[in-house]
Amino acid sequence: MIIDFHTHCFPDKIAARAMEQLKLRSGITMPFHDGSLDGLKKLQKRDGVDYSVVLNIATNPRQQTSVNNFAISLKAVEGIVPFGSVHPDSPEALDELDRLKENGIKGIKLHPDYQGFFVDEEKMLPIYEKIGSLGFITVFHSGFDIGYPEPIHCTPKALSTVLKYFGDAPVVAAHFGGLCARPETLEYLAGKNVYLDTAYCYGMLTPGKAKELIDVHGADKILLGSDAPWNSPEQDIELVRCFGLTEEQEKAVLGGNAQRLLNL
Ligand SMILES: [Zn+2]
Repeated sequence: MIIDFHTHCFPDKIAARAMEQLKLRSGITMPFHDGSLDGLKKLQKRDGVDYSVVLNIATNPRQQTSVNNFAISLKAVEGIVPFGSVHPDSPEALDELDRLKENGIKGIKLHPDYQGFFVDEEKMLPIYEKIGSLGFITVFHSGFDIGYPEPIHCTPKALSTVLKYFGDAPVVAAHFGGLCARPETLEYLAGKNVYLDTAYCYGMLTPGKAKELIDVHGADKILLGSDAPWNSPEQDIELVRCFGLTEEQEKAVLGGNAQRLLNL
């Protein structure tokens, strides 16, 4: 089974506008799908992906409810596992986590750059503890964002200091802990109770360097992610196949680990 743990799509009525803005912001002017659910589903099918985890992000407090309504609506779509999002400045953030849980959402995406917080800020701790108590999976955008200026809001070092607030609930540091942040990931996250995804690593991470990190961290905590529409699943699947893992490890990274995490 192949599970892409890191994808994006938008509601049909805003997809075209959102993609135009994000293309200009990131410089990725030839994305692999058009930003719609239909576009993602077609790409998923083309590349042989069984499930795509769709990471939704509330980029301001006003959007929180509508972003999560979209996430909840995606639950009905075969092959899609939607994650919700809360905005740290929303007074309803904690209640919204309850609503997401009641609606069967399995995870939360937090993007410190787009949501304007530092991962180790004190205001975040009640949110982390609540997420932990509800047992959500949390995906953090980690390291620099191609469409966002410095400073980096989630470094591997800072993330390592807040993992304890999530208790036993799984935390994922996207982009292998941060694009080009591999030495810091090795120092502060390797071997810890945190998952790393391969999102947007195609062309950014050599298989040899990835393997060095996986040997320390454990292949049971690595997840295939493409960051579609910005990369295609087939690129990241092929990247994983070049890591030099055993057959069993490769299967785990391409889907087995995610299947376990998501209870699929
Ligand atoms: Zn992403």
